[in-house]
Amino acid sequence: MTSGIRFADVSVRYGTTTVLDSLDLTVEPGEVMALLGPSGSGKTTALRAVAGFVHPASGRVFIGDRDVTDLPPYKRGIGMVVQSYALFPHLRVADNVAFGLKARKEPRAEIPGRVAEALEMTGMAAYARRYPRELSGGQQQRVAIARALAIRPDVLLLDEPLSALDAQLRSGMLAELARLHRELPGVSVLYVTHDQVEALTLADRIAVMDRARLQDCGTPQELYRRPRTEFTASFVGNANLLPVRVTAAGVTLAGRPLDVPVPATGAAPGATATLCVRPHLVGLGEGPNALRGRITEVQWRGATHRLYVDVAGHRVKADVRELRETPALDSEVTLHFAPEDAVLLAAGVHDG
Ligand code: ADP
Repeated sequence: MTSGIRFADVSVRYGTTTVLDSLDLTVEPGEVMALLGPSGSGKTTALRAVAGFVHPASGRVFIGDRDVTDLPPYKRGIGMVVQSYALFPHLRVADNVAFGLKARKEPRAEIPGRVAEALEMTGMAAYARRYPRELSGGQQQRVAIARALAIRPDVLLLDEPLSALDAQLRSGMLAELARLHRELPGVSVLYVTHDQVEALTLADRIAVMDRARLQDCGTPQELYRRPRTEFTASFVGNANLLPVRVTAAGVTLAGRPLDVPVPATGAAPGATATLCVRPHLVGLGEGPNALRGRITEVQWRGATHRLYVDVAGHRVKADVRELRETPALDSEVTLHFAPEDAVLLAAGVHDG
């Protein structure tokens, strides 16, 4: 049996402050949904509303077709992993993993098998007799994941599970989490992170949060290629965000016409808008949408050079591959980009 998660118009308030504002979001059964956004945007609050640790001021939370809004946490069939592992220091690994099973009053005879299975899945079978203090951070986090999986949850809630780990461990654990999800394809996952790499790597879809609100939601590719808002464009991947004016023929940047697709809805002639072009899609040399400018900074990044170019007072970033020589500072260059690589973002979609 598999079940998804649904937020139906969920708001959470602390005192008079709304920290989650009218969230509508569905995580399909078996889907990995990342909640991505800066610190304080309401991600953890949304996750805690699913877990049952905060009660919405309004709206309902569903797991599968069950309205769980008024259920206590232990009746929700949820596994949860948080940044700080939260293992019991006085219990051995096996007893930590067994904890949730005992609390749920699973038949005693079944518990050892379920513990062994969960430790096996997370590669921790050899450590069952150790205490948490005898484990590294990465191993403790594996135990926390084993504990969450032992109850065979329909829904797994992960709150910044990798942020206490160093960079190398983190990328290993990312691959582990992806593998675990392939082994448990029916489990729906809500994954809170402020790290776009984690979201892009693991998630089937990403819900972008900012200031208590859902800003955007889509597959990583959709958000990267067709961001709807400036916030998404700059938070998911790197972006040039250029202020342009809409004309009957297209748009202009500092008075110069550019050839970019203007969506039928939205931008009316005369309006200002923002043009999003990804730095790696900006080329050096002549081409469509040629922009003349002066190099103000060059960074060598191994496979690419990042050029910062002043184009009529606007800073344009270009990530250029296979440059044999580093271009000189202050030299005049021409950049270009293909019309189909530009996305026009209507002004005012992101209020602020
Ligand atoms: P995120 O997970 O995106 O970093 P949170 O959901 O943890 O954000 O927090 C959203 C906002 O709610 C923040 O401004 C935070 O300070 C506030 N907040 C969280 N928990 C509480 C609480 N128990 N009491 C008061 N304010 C809280």
